[in-house]
Amino acid sequence: MEKYWNTFFRSFSDYGNYLWNEILNPSWGNYFYWLIGLSLFFWLLEIIAPWRQHQAKIRIDFWLDGFYMFFNFFLFSLVGFNAVSNVGVEAFNDFLGLFGITNLVAFEVQSWPVWAQLLTLFIVRDFIQWNVHRLLHRFEFLWNFHKVHHSVQQMGFAAHLRFHWGETVVYRTLEYIPLAMIGFGIQDFFLVHIFATAVGHFNHSNFKVPLGPFRFLFNNPQMHIWHHAKHMPRRYGANYGITLSVWDYLFGTAYEPEDGRDIELGFDEVEHYPKSFLEQQLYPFRENLEVRPKPEAVSNPKRETA
Ligand SMILES: [Zn+2]
Ligand SMILES: [Zn+2]
Repeated sequence: MEKYWNTFFRSFSDYGNYLWNEILNPSWGNYFYWLIGLSLFFWLLEIIAPWRQHQAKIRIDFWLDGFYMFFNFFLFSLVGFNAVSNVGVEAFNDFLGLFGITNLVAFEVQSWPVWAQLLTLFIVRDFIQWNVHRLLHRFEFLWNFHKVHHSVQQMGFAAHLRFHWGETVVYRTLEYIPLAMIGFGIQDFFLVHIFATAVGHFNHSNFKVPLGPFRFLFNNPQMHIWHHAKHMPRRYGANYGITLSVWDYLFGTAYEPEDGRDIELGFDEVEHYPKSFLEQQLYPFRENLEVRPKPEAVSNPKRETA
């Protein structure tokens, strides 16, 4: 037990030192400055060539989303996730050890060229995330967490990282075993993570660029805005793609009926959804604990959009 506590506390100080080092030492391998650089880049595109011209350059919730960006990218790891996940990984490995399993790697990709490893990691991870995203829409318990992301009513690049920290826990937990099976650890994510962050910022930006046939491969603002539509024909939504849109085309969940530039965003009664960071963080816990009437007593389902 003491071992786990040590891991827990060491993780806090390690991550604190790491973050401080990142801020003090700008370099090409630095998450902190990549996040700032990418954000400035997409903000500049929104200013120079906006898709919705009437939208303010500092749009509704710009600063709230800016805070979410740093919270989800850095502070959440600093405050707890890093520590809890390190303990989780250690406990999980010890648990496997009880059965004599010391190595989860089922497919050896380490001997491949680096580009092939990264490409594999990217594709496998993106497909897992597409599936996790579907689950977030499918189950009420998870949807209450995911609603934070869908509470965006005016779209812009910073909306990308408006999400509840509970989502990070769900994504990382479900990704862990499949990625460990092909021999990847969290430290291999840098390039893939930066690329995914860039495309994520792009998807949410107020910017239009003709992608031609690439739109069937990569997610983009014109497709992702429909994922945020307030009124959807399907109960659990569409366009779940994170970086790649190809999964939605392959599995029949793509939806882009017309130009979605000015569609209404959010979900039913989004007007009554909490506006502050703290209240949004508490929202899923309150909702999930609330005693609800039995399904047959509900005549008007609360959610028809996703
Ligand atoms: Zn979603
Ligand atoms: Zn989104």
